[in-house]
Amino acid sequence: MAKQEIERLPENRRKRIKRLKKIIVGTVIAAIVIPVMLCIFLGIRLHIVKKDLNNSKAQVEEMQMELERYSSEVEDSVLVENQNNMQPATQTFDGEGSIINSSTTLTSTGNENANSSQDAETADGKKRVYLTFDDGPSDNTEEILDILKKYDVQATFFVVGNTSEHGQELLKRIVEDGHSIGIHSYSHKYSSIYDSEEAFFEDFNKLSDYIYDTTGVRPQICRLPGGSSNTVSKISMVELVRSLNEKNIECFDWNISGGDASGQKLSASAITDNVLKGIDRFQTAVVLLHDGADKDSTVEALDMILKELTENDEIIIDKITENTPVILHISL
Ligand SMILES: [Zn+2]
Repeated sequence: MAKQEIERLPENRRKRIKRLKKIIVGTVIAAIVIPVMLCIFLGIRLHIVKKDLNNSKAQVEEMQMELERYSSEVEDSVLVENQNNMQPATQTFDGEGSIINSSTTLTSTGNENANSSQDAETADGKKRVYLTFDDGPSDNTEEILDILKKYDVQATFFVVGNTSEHGQELLKRIVEDGHSIGIHSYSHKYSSIYDSEEAFFEDFNKLSDYIYDTTGVRPQICRLPGGSSNTVSKISMVELVRSLNEKNIECFDWNISGGDASGQKLSASAITDNVLKGIDRFQTAVVLLHDGADKDSTVEALDMILKELTENDEIIIDKITENTPVILHISL
């Protein structure tokens, strides 16, 4: 009995040592594998959280932009409303080309010569209609572009600094579809851009560079926020337009407003009515419309407007270029 136990001892020790070895190896492997797995898991989680965070940031930025755009639109609507109701201080020209009705068409405060030259007879006697869209690109730009394509016409987009990925794609498509792209304002904040000429050109150049970097096109035309006749600017608008002209930039106001900038939402048929009645009265019609996420009625109106206009052989719908006759509310 005692002899047998002695013989079994080394066998037991060997087994214990073997077990110990297994435990040690297992522990070591576990000590390496578990942290590695944990790291991988946490890494993936971190990546997901970062992605969520970036998405949220982009959403917040987009919302902030929307908010800014909305407040700008409110400013726009107040300005356009004021301009629409504005009687010319020196109305030296006759009824032609002056106020059509107080809610649809702007008048020039300029003198007779400036005004009549702004609506001169075209060489072929046909009307020229320039549809312009301010404040885009927006969630409605794509649909606007589709409608323009459907009627095979070109328009002009005076854009703002929408730097979202979608915004960049839309800028590219505007150019690819052959439309004109012009500067409106990067920030569209009246208080800062009209504080000084320096501030204006800082904002202007920022947008010009952005459009150039995104589309390869350097815009040569602009629409001043609130128009050249806005009354909020601290700087002389005449001086500002002259400065822009010196830099080979042409400024374009409008002589017909769709009325879609106002706080009250106009129906598509009301916008269509404003535009078509306005076009009736001008040989050269520059139509102000807005490209905004909440401007669904403008999109709907565009289809109705183009249906009507494209059936008329006496009307040519064109995009604005630096060679287009200038329509400006102020006299230089
Ligand atoms: Zn605007």
